[in-house]
Order: sequence, then C-alpha cells, then structure tokens
Amino acid sequence: MQKTYSGRNVNLQALAQEINNFFLSEGWESTIQPMTPPMGGIQDFLIRAIKKGHFHHAEQVIVRVTGYPYDFRIIVEEEHIGPLGRELINHRLFSQIDKEINDGLFDLPYQAAQYQPAPQYPQPVQPQQGVRCPQCGFVNPPAAKFCANCGYKLA
Ligand SMILES: [Zn+2]
Repeated sequence: MQKTYSGRNVNLQALAQEINNFFLSEGWESTIQPMTPPMGGIQDFLIRAIKKGHFHHAEQVIVRVTGYPYDFRIIVEEEHIGPLGRELINHRLFSQIDKEINDGLFDLPYQAAQYQPAPQYPQPVQPQQGVRCPQCGFVNPPAAKFCANCGYKLA
C-alpha cells in the first residue's frame, strides 16, 4: 500500500525516524537508511523492520518515505507479514503518523532561514609587510592611510 501526502512542509528524515521508532517500540528490529538521493531535491529513506516470530518464522516489512517535503509518499514496499502485522501497519502505523503529520509534528519551518553571507572582516596582512596600527594593533597593508580595523589615521 502507499499513501501520498501534500500541502505541508515535512521533515522526511524525522518522519522516517518516527516510523523506525514505531517498529522498535512494537518489538521489531528496525533500521533506517537514507537512499542515495536522486536529483532534484528528492529525499528517500528506507525503513526495514523484522520481527522474529514463532516457528522460525520472521515477519518483514520495508517502508519507504520518498519525495519532496511538500509532496511525498509513504510506501509499504514489501511485506511478509501475518494478519497481526498487517493490522499493525495498515491501521496503527498509518493512523499514528497521519495524526502526527496533521498535527505538524514534523513540519519544517515555513520559510527556510535566509542565507546570510558571513560578515567580511578585514584580513590582516603579514606583520613584516604592513603597518601596525598604533591604536588597535591591526596590521594594515603598507600603503594604508587608515586602519582597516578601527579607522585610525595611519599616515
Ligand atoms: Zn587600528
């Protein structure tokens, strides 16, 4: 089965982690692995959950979270599970994460922080090449008329 989600801005890694935690809390062995990210900002996470059952029988589920933060799918890619496992996934897992997604638990900040270029501080030159400012000690280029750091008049 698969479900498509859109209209929010979801942190897919956090969501995949939550699905992994869900299986762990239900006593499954579960691991999460990020897949090689395809082009175009698509994210892709795979959750593999295994539950050792009776009579050497193991149930296994592979869940994939893939897409963009604002438009993604949760896909149950593969399952070798009995009725209890199916109930667990189809009802409890999806009802839990659907609620958490709708509650905004995994929402990314609506507007990503604006990129701020690092402030440009004046770079001192090598002491033997420059003029040391008598006021602040900053070493300025040889021909400097004013200190690049504090503005003190050098010449
Ligand atoms: Zn100075």
